[in-house]
Amino acid sequence: MGFIPVNEPLLNGNEKKYLCECIDTGWISSEGPFVKEFEKKLSASVGRAYGVAVSNGTAALEIAVRALGIEPGDEVIMPTFTIISCAAAVTKAGAVPVFVDSDLKTWNMNVDEIEAKITDRTKAILVVHIYGLPVELEPVLALAEKYGLKMIEDAAEMLGQTYKGLPCGSFGDLSIFSFYPNKHVTTGEGGMVVMNDAGLAERCRSLRNLCFQRDVRYVHDEIGYNYRFTNLQAALGLAQIEQLEEAVKRKRAMGRYYTKKLREIGGLMLPLETTAYADNIYWVYGMVLEQNIPIDNKGMQKLLAEKGIGSRTFFWCMHEQPVYRKTGMFLGEVYPNAEYLARKGFYIPSGLALTKMQMDKVIEAIKDIMKQMV
Ligand SMILES: *Cc1c(COP(=O)(O)O)cnc(C)c1O
Repeated sequence: MGFIPVNEPLLNGNEKKYLCECIDTGWISSEGPFVKEFEKKLSASVGRAYGVAVSNGTAALEIAVRALGIEPGDEVIMPTFTIISCAAAVTKAGAVPVFVDSDLKTWNMNVDEIEAKITDRTKAILVVHIYGLPVELEPVLALAEKYGLKMIEDAAEMLGQTYKGLPCGSFGDLSIFSFYPNKHVTTGEGGMVVMNDAGLAERCRSLRNLCFQRDVRYVHDEIGYNYRFTNLQAALGLAQIEQLEEAVKRKRAMGRYYTKKLREIGGLMLPLETTAYADNIYWVYGMVLEQNIPIDNKGMQKLLAEKGIGSRTFFWCMHEQPVYRKTGMFLGEVYPNAEYLARKGFYIPSGLALTKMQMDKVIEAIKDIMKQMV
């Protein structure tokens, strides 16, 4: 068995057929008919009225932040344990991210810390569902309502997941998705902003397309982006969404299998299987080394690589990012749980193309490594 990559996507449905259709008809740009069809299907699958497809999930976050009118002087509350795209969308708009720590069990933002962080400059809360379980959303929605705040839901990792039976991607003013190859639906690169408000949808479409005016094409009131999504990407997306239900089932089965086999190994904190509001979807299968284990996640990654297994360390906290620290931002801020996850957490091969034989090899490797640690 060769090296087992941390992710390999599954492209065994209508991907080739729809892509050939693009080539046969000549529709390859963002003007092609698959784009609107994919926007409609994906947004409908999470119960949203509108979808605006963009070039990637990072672009979706930038557009969401801009569309809500977040600007210099504003503060946006978000987890420190997340991907840079979240903080970057806020700082690029000239606004300030205000962080909360993580919950050690779910690895999501600790929603109990949000209210104390609200000031008269707070404009929005950005919730990010991390790795497999959604954020506990009800208290966040209640705070947004109470203080008149906007809410953005980063559901990039959670397409197909639900919170109390309602789809992730249906909460707050805007939700975003990514279609990077490790996401449940992939278009190679791609993303989407989904919403129920027609005005917000129009605003996102405008920002995606350089803020061209409707009537006078080359005259601009505002600087937008070229974050357009191509018909080729949409062709992949349409084929992929046909397989979403199957993909989610597969992820859950893989997650449960890993847990069953890894449960007896000491020194590892495995993902929570279920909470009061959702069952884990195992977007990636992560785990965290316990305090007494003498190596960190980078050491673990190296040991796994030596055994032919790809892995990734968890996110590095936003408040510890050199790019922000060197400008004096977030100095002295401490979020112990998030810092712990960032140093001790890692995830193992969890892509949809992973075979049972490969999973067994991963399990054996972890057992071997951990035997020497505890
Ligand atoms: C993948 C991801 C993104 C960014 O998406 P890209 O398409 O890679 O730009 C944003 N947020 C979260 C939580 C993600 O997992």
